[in-house]
Amino acid sequence: MADQLDQLYEQLCEHARETARWGAIAHLLQWDERTMMPSADAENRAEELTLLSAHIHARKTDPRLGELIERLEDSPLAADPLSDTGVTIRRQRRDRDRAMKLPAGLVEELSRTSVLGQQCWQQAREDDDFAAFQPVLEKTLRLKREEAEALGYEDQPYDALLDEFEPDAKTTEVAGVLRELRRELIPLVSALAASDRRPPSEILSRHYPRAAQEAFGREVAAAIGFDFQRGRLDVTAHPFCSGVGPNDCRITTRYDERAPGSALFGTLHEAGHGIYEQGLRADQWGLPLGQDVSLGIHESQSRLWENMVGRSRAFWEHFYPRAQGHHFPESLTGVPLDDFFFAVNEAKPTLIRVEADEVTYNLHILIRFELELELLEDRLPVAELPAAWNAKYRDYLGIEPPNNAQGVLQDVHWSGGAIGYFPTYSLGNLYAAHWFQAAADALGDLDEQFARGEFTPLRDWLRENIHRQGRRFSATELLQHVTGESLSSEPLMAHLRSKYGLLYQLGDLGTGA
Ligand code: ZN
Repeated sequence: MADQLDQLYEQLCEHARETARWGAIAHLLQWDERTMMPSADAENRAEELTLLSAHIHARKTDPRLGELIERLEDSPLAADPLSDTGVTIRRQRRDRDRAMKLPAGLVEELSRTSVLGQQCWQQAREDDDFAAFQPVLEKTLRLKREEAEALGYEDQPYDALLDEFEPDAKTTEVAGVLRELRRELIPLVSALAASDRRPPSEILSRHYPRAAQEAFGREVAAAIGFDFQRGRLDVTAHPFCSGVGPNDCRITTRYDERAPGSALFGTLHEAGHGIYEQGLRADQWGLPLGQDVSLGIHESQSRLWENMVGRSRAFWEHFYPRAQGHHFPESLTGVPLDDFFFAVNEAKPTLIRVEADEVTYNLHILIRFELELELLEDRLPVAELPAAWNAKYRDYLGIEPPNNAQGVLQDVHWSGGAIGYFPTYSLGNLYAAHWFQAAADALGDLDEQFARGEFTPLRDWLRENIHRQGRRFSATELLQHVTGESLSSEPLMAHLRSKYGLLYQLGDLGTGA
């Protein structure tokens, strides 16, 4: 009996691993498309990827898989939901139910609309022509409402869509913590804008040779723990990280010789994603225990290394002498560490999300989250979206886009049907601050370690507590398990108030309430 169960369990795992291999092939094709492929072959690549995604959907809805799960979920192997076998069976059931609820016709229509939508958006952004994009967005929203109905939800349709990116998260809870964050961020942003302290940002518009940026980026990524024996760093237009195999993680960046922060902090960000991928259990590759929890948890790893570590003064105490003396003497000779540190931490309202600083970034996300919720629930007609967008930028950030290209048309997400994705960026920032506090409690003075160039204790703590857990817990359970806390804006706000209060000499910021 036990032998037979073990055999069934092994068959279930092999089924999942094979599906993951097909997924890995798709990821490799996507990586190639975005780094190496001649753009003339785009249509053919889209055909190849559609073929693979149809095959993967067929595997996820394979009746044989359903049978295996059914026979195992009432067995002793599933009795303890937190045991390795229990987690594997439970998560496979969850993924299977989700895949089964989506009619193949809807999946196909969503995928076609997403490809066309992104093409249409690209042109509309180029022409600054929202009206050209409006019908596609209306159709996308119609399909996403259908998708939400097909998937089902307890409270509101947005729950079903959010669940794709942040499993088990509830809209009301996410909205609650983001509202709290907004209430505290807006006065902080105004206080920063009113300060007469200004960073010497001119330092960062000097010339930083591309080859030196790449060499420095590799040095830093390796120092924080990205393993180049099991990964690569390449160039792309829109940076991303892709876990292609158990020992193959691809990160990407882009270089601008007059704006070194883009590649430097971008590389740290993607290396943070990569360190998570590389920290997953290789023996569980393709199985829930070897997979990431959610986009929010993934983003917490990238943001932790990019912001909590990479934008700290201690980090630069260690790396600045190398940057100044070895990599960028032409631009940094004679520039004091404190000037450089202030320059890479400039906080001010800007129009473009991907260029936003650590303080204002979450307000960009809030605006998108609030608007997509209203759009999905039909409380905001698509035709009125640009005006609503501009009004929120005025209210939250005190600035207004001069056109839609730099406003509502700047992000690709909605055109590709990724509704429910944006909040995961802010969840990542919130989780990162929780992890950082807990790591500091466990490891002692992290600043002292960073200043000595020691990043391994932090990486190992993250690996042990987060990476090695795979999907044993949901995001909120993992936070509870590791820190004993519930998600809150407080750790992030405490970090921002103390760091920026000092930089901008704001004095006592109180609670910001
Ligand atoms: Zn990221």
